[in-house]
Amino acid sequence: MRNNDLLDENRQLRRKLKAYETNASRNEQKLRRFQDHELQFISAGSAHELLEAIFSEYRAEFHLDALTLLLIDPEYEIRRVMENLDITNQSHPDILFVDDAAPLQAYFNEHYHPRLGSCNESCYLFLFPNTDTLPSSIALFPLVRQGKLIGSLNLGSYEPQRYIQGVATDFLERLAAIIAVCLESAINSEKLKLLGLLDPLTGVHNRRYFDERLEEETDRCLREQAALSCLFLDIDHFKQFNDNHGHHIGDLVLRDVASLIKRQMRSSDVMARFGGEEFAALLVRTDKQEAMDIAERIRTSIARHQPVDAAGQPLHITISIGCASLVGNPDVASRSAAQHLLQQADKALYIAKKSGRNRIDYLLAETFDLMNQPA
Ligand code: GH3
Ligand code: MG
Ligand code: MG
Repeated sequence: MRNNDLLDENRQLRRKLKAYETNASRNEQKLRRFQDHELQFISAGSAHELLEAIFSEYRAEFHLDALTLLLIDPEYEIRRVMENLDITNQSHPDILFVDDAAPLQAYFNEHYHPRLGSCNESCYLFLFPNTDTLPSSIALFPLVRQGKLIGSLNLGSYEPQRYIQGVATDFLERLAAIIAVCLESAINSEKLKLLGLLDPLTGVHNRRYFDERLEEETDRCLREQAALSCLFLDIDHFKQFNDNHGHHIGDLVLRDVASLIKRQMRSSDVMARFGGEEFAALLVRTDKQEAMDIAERIRTSIARHQPVDAAGQPLHITISIGCASLVGNPDVASRSAAQHLLQQADKALYIAKKSGRNRIDYLLAETFDLMNQPA
């Protein structure tokens, strides 16, 4: 009898031990999967790669029915960075933004613990607006940097038991902490990149950015056999203007001119301060006629603009513009076509200066000319 008891107890202990072993090995596998994703997040070379790792790979591996990332963005800074990276609401509908931390803060206690449980209608509309049906259980992980809530990682499941109070969340909490660091660093580095491509005085793009886009747009123009126009713009007698009114007023005028040019651009166009008092613009899918119309609008808006000096005296400023357009020919190398377009716009500007200033001149940038030139 006693022997039987011992045997029973032994069997039970073995069963328990087996269950622990299975559990430990399952946890080890899970930990390894989490670690793989953490490594992927840490080694992402750009915001694009990081978002791909979160929204495609991580989401698929863990079979998440809903996954959103909500970011607190009071100054619209993150949205501007994202816009510049072509990360839009259309391409990434599961990245959500709020201007104010309060509505998100309400979901967490002061220690920023994750929140698990059911999802009511208002939480559904706030955190999972693009999910077809209301998730049956959700897990919300606060993204915290330096003690401050910067957003949340939100997981939703159609299984009511998947995220319930008491379920272990340590792996996920660690993952959320890593996502918070990686996101902040990706956004900061994109901001720096963007700053490296902007002119600090006028806030418009700089020459480096223009040169990059010139190659891309010329390439596209040749491939699609579409028109591409380029404007070269140079303020008239600006040296004299500085001598008369001082460098400081000159700087203010440069800013005004940049914004007046920009106002005539469409979002697909490229406009940059090329250097000094010179600007350049690339008008995408724009032929001669349309480019000349845009140039004329810029010229008149600057000639009509009347800033005043410190004494309230009106200041007059004019600009000369060289315009050139390229018509696609896929047989021409884009680099030489790009340089040709730029040279023609520069030559046209020279003609405008020689012909009296405050005017626009035009030259065609014909690509068949390039094909006949010796290599
Ligand atoms: P033109 O009509 O032939 O273009 O005459 P210009 O005087 O505008 O041309 P020039 O190339 O002789 O002189 C350009 C002037 O632009 C010289 C410089 O004082 C001024 N300039 C260049 N960069 C800046 C800047 O950042 N701020 C200010 N205030 N002036 C600048
Ligand atoms: Mg100049
Ligand atoms: Mg000038």
